[in-house]
Amino acid sequence: MNNLHAAKVEALKASVQGAVILPGDEGYENARKVWNATIDKHPALIVRCATTADVVGSVNFAKDNGLVLAVRGGGHNIAGSAICDDGIVVDLSQMKAASIDAGARRGTVEGGATLADFDAATQAHGLAVPLGINSTTGVAGLTLGGGFGWLSRKFGMTIDSLESAEVVTAAGDVLRTSASEHPDLFWALRGGSGNFGVVTRFEFRLHPVGPEVLSGLIVYPLSEARTVLERYRDFMDKAPDDLAVWVVLRKAPPLPFLPEKVHGQGMIALALCYAGDPAQGQPLIEPLRKFGTLWGEHVGVQPYTAWQQAFDPLLAPGARNYWKSHNFSSLQDGLFDAVIAFAQTLPSPQCEIFFGAIGGATTRPAPDSAAYAHRDARFVMNVHGRWSDPADDNRCIGWARDFFKASAPFASGGVYVNFLTADEGDRVKAAYGQNYERLAQIKRQYDPNNLFCTNQNIKPA
Ligand SMILES: Cc1cc2nc3c(=O)[nH]c(=O)nc-3n(C[C@H](O)[C@H](O)[C@H](O)COP(=O)(O)OP(=O)(O)OC[C@H]3O[C@@H](n4cnc5c(N)ncnc54)[C@H](O)[C@@H]3O)c2cc1C
Repeated sequence: MNNLHAAKVEALKASVQGAVILPGDEGYENARKVWNATIDKHPALIVRCATTADVVGSVNFAKDNGLVLAVRGGGHNIAGSAICDDGIVVDLSQMKAASIDAGARRGTVEGGATLADFDAATQAHGLAVPLGINSTTGVAGLTLGGGFGWLSRKFGMTIDSLESAEVVTAAGDVLRTSASEHPDLFWALRGGSGNFGVVTRFEFRLHPVGPEVLSGLIVYPLSEARTVLERYRDFMDKAPDDLAVWVVLRKAPPLPFLPEKVHGQGMIALALCYAGDPAQGQPLIEPLRKFGTLWGEHVGVQPYTAWQQAFDPLLAPGARNYWKSHNFSSLQDGLFDAVIAFAQTLPSPQCEIFFGAIGGATTRPAPDSAAYAHRDARFVMNVHGRWSDPADDNRCIGWARDFFKASAPFASGGVYVNFLTADEGDRVKAAYGQNYERLAQIKRQYDPNNLFCTNQNIKPA
């Protein structure tokens, strides 16, 4: 049991309401898996917390036994930071309860909920908070890094709607944080990425959305990528905040609305979501259908929750993944050259390059209004290397790194902390940007011994 005294573990088991899972226990192998199959770590124990008190008990247990501590929300982080070798995993995946006050447009959700859990709760009232594009992602990790998705151009980053958070600190205290309660800690949580404690409950301001939205995909051949990208750039310069259009370059999956003969061929797709009245969105999206020779489209009015799950099949857990990412404040011609060259040499049918359009409301707060600093970012690019066979690791990782280098001259220099892989320690300061020093000061106050270190780590000042 990795030097852990059996009696201490028995005492922990007796004191928590949730399950304590040890190596060899049924369920251990599943409990140590995360979304990215390249991560293969073996914790000494996993505590499936049921309550905030369980989290406090687990944090104290880690300190008392000198254990490395990892915190698991949705387990999606590409760097595998939800899990550790030989230490303790504070697993919040059973703490998913949400409650909505529709009249006040406020919603609270526990720290282990997925986007699907919270979207279902908020949409029951025609409300939503901006969250990401894959419904099995954890609300916690996404929010703590900033968080963006289809609604962000209209309503801002996820953190811009955060009203308060309940946190278990390294000292084992349970603090309520907000603009008026421990404001420095609340500031740090909004972009500081898991460095400051275990968030057991988030409270968000909610916005009226849907419940049906105009959304879908418009697909063109990769051979027309340059024209499509140029028109896309012009279009997004004038697009209203209600409309988000993202670009994806990859091999065409066998989608029913695409002719069979193009399946597996290079494509450039526009993915769109209009967050306002669908009738008003219809004429606005019309130009997107005229960017080139249409291969097919699947656009319509559908439940927002269905659109939030539309990409789940392409992003299912269990594949091997490696990411590289840049922020952009503009899309330059030289970038398009690199994008097109690398989209023509995709090393696997699952690899893709995507541009998420943020901008709009995400750019309006001051860069120091919360820990998330990248208010200049209008596009977040993710080079998504994805494959199945470990024998392809070097080839797929090499492709992602080469494209990352080729596109770097056109990037803003900032990077979204939630898209960093485990080998990008040299980019941590770029991820926290101008706010790094203040974050390091707050880290010294709340976590002087760096208990929360399995993340894109901020060293205590
Ligand atoms: C397929 C896919 C699609 C994505 N799409 C988007 C997107 O559209 N928009 C976007 O913004 N991001 C997106 N992301 C990135 C996502 O935001 C990050 O991977 C995020 O870290 C996931 O959070 P999690 O809770 O699932 O992850 P975990 O791996 O569980 O945790 C991530 C980090 O947060 C910490 N953490 C988790 N829960 C807590 C908690 N309760 N308290 C304190 N710390 C905690 C962990 O210790 C870890 O360091 C996507 C990721 C994937 C894999």
